[in-house]
Amino acid sequence: MSDPSRPVGARIIAVANQKGGVGKTTTAINLAAALAERGCRVLLVDLDPQGNASTGLGVEVENRTLSTYDLLLDDAPLAEVVRDTAIEGLLICPATTDLSSADMELVSNEKRSFLLHDALRQPEIDRFALDYILIDCPPSLSQLTVNAMVAAHSVLVPLQAEFFALEGLSQLMLTIREVRQANRDLRIEGVVLTMYDVRNNLSQQVEADARATLGELVFRTMIPRNVRVSEAPSYAMPVLNYDSSSRGAEAYRALAQELIGRHGAAQQRS
Ligand code: ADP
Ligand code: MG
Repeated sequence: MSDPSRPVGARIIAVANQKGGVGKTTTAINLAAALAERGCRVLLVDLDPQGNASTGLGVEVENRTLSTYDLLLDDAPLAEVVRDTAIEGLLICPATTDLSSADMELVSNEKRSFLLHDALRQPEIDRFALDYILIDCPPSLSQLTVNAMVAAHSVLVPLQAEFFALEGLSQLMLTIREVRQANRDLRIEGVVLTMYDVRNNLSQQVEADARATLGELVFRTMIPRNVRVSEAPSYAMPVLNYDSSSRGAEAYRALAQELIGRHGAAQQRS
């Protein structure tokens, strides 16, 4: 049985933004891979019915016998849903299209916001000795995204360096504030600018606005627009493995380092 109050050793980070196509899945896959490359043990929970993170890490659709859906709605044991990937230290909880009906099914479930929270607090999670759990959220502020935020310690927000990028953030922040009624200590891990193009004035403008509005919440590291990043999923690999010296790979390594550094600083402060 899961004990909802038991502490988890891993830091749980929801990668969320209700806009589609802003780099959530790309960031979840490559940040996970970059953390694993540094020797961390990482679980990526695919919480998007599209299953792009699962595909991008080489889990074939026909091999997704047990998925996040089973974990949330059929009480499947964590140990049976979590599986290895080709990357050492990187595990995945794959998603299938079944998840698209989860929102409807959750409406009549009184524990609806806590299913992922409780699933990640099953005692058997200890056997994976995880340092990080990253949750790839769907492009909506649905019940699935709320589950991710209730389960998580923090939310990491990819922000595409594009016109109107900041517009959607107030809605996201409102949701975070509401979720704090259930998960008091939910933090914002940070906002990371994605698909950044230095030669584009608009990218620079979005960066300036984001830093002026959000200050320290914005990661120093920015993820450049890089074709190698977009090619990697069709080879079922993180860009770190597909083209290890690409600018995209280097940026995700820097993001992992900055993330780890922030925790170090936070631990020293507290
Ligand atoms: P989301 O999960 O938010 O919907 P994705 O991570 O799937 O967004 O990214 C949307 C599209 O943008 C994908 O085709 C992806 O390959 C591409 N993409 C994401 N980040 C980059 C990048 N840094 N450079 C180039 N293409 C990118
Ligand atoms: Mg996605």
